[in-house]
Amino acid sequence: GIRMDNFAPALKWSDFKLNSDGMVPVVVQDYRTDEVLMVAYMNEEAFNTTISSGKMTYYSRSRKALWMKGETSGHIQYVKSLTADCDFDTILAKVSQIGVACHTGAPSCFFNEIVKKEYAEKNPLQVFEDVYSIIADRKIHPKEGSYTNYLFDKGIDKILKKVGEEATEIVIAAKNPEPEEIIYEISDFLYHAMVLMVEKGVTWEDVTQELAQR
Ligand code: AMP
Ligand code: ZN
Ligand code: ZN
Ligand code: ZN
Repeated sequence: GIRMDNFAPALKWSDFKLNSDGMVPVVVQDYRTDEVLMVAYMNEEAFNTTISSGKMTYYSRSRKALWMKGETSGHIQYVKSLTADCDFDTILAKVSQIGVACHTGAPSCFFNEIVKKEYAEKNPLQVFEDVYSIIADRKIHPKEGSYTNYLFDKGIDKILKKVGEEATEIVIAAKNPEPEEIIYEISDFLYHAMVLMVEKGVTWEDVTQELAQR
């Protein structure tokens, strides 16, 4: 991370467009995971204190006082980056969060669901891990009517045949201008490749390490 004490900030308070209370909202993210942790407000003193101390400092609208996050809880937020948005009325902070961000003890303040549609919530790599562990679990705890168990029961030759077939189907699907079919076939292929990986005891970590060092 940047050493806040050794660098002059690229923007100063007078560059910001303040809200009607003379403050700027700050969206706070975990610098490693990008999880949104909280939103709070800064006034000029909070902004300057944050930059000089390297610890996120806000203005508490309820207590009407300067508030270094973690001053009573110890749940300090070390500044990794501060970025202004396109029209200079909001700050995005990436922080190293000690403990949890929310005073309720939750890791993030954002847990009160309003609406939620079905969607894949996880990052792509997490989905690979999750599907892989379900496949691995099927091998240990076979499930009635499971296609994965059908493949394991048929054995390696059946699994290899399916991997070959699905690879060919990707090639055929790619002739189609629309991406739907290729998405479907790549999913099929990756699933069968993961069945093969489980059968052979190869993990995603093995594969990603190989890719990373090439
Ligand atoms: P802390 O800054 O963590 O020592 O907490 C001091 C006080 O600030 C708490 O008692 C809460 O009233 C308030 N507070 C702390 N964290 C949050 C947060 N994420 N959102 C709103 N209020 C907070
Ligand atoms: Zn914009
Ligand atoms: Zn804006
Ligand atoms: Zn909270």
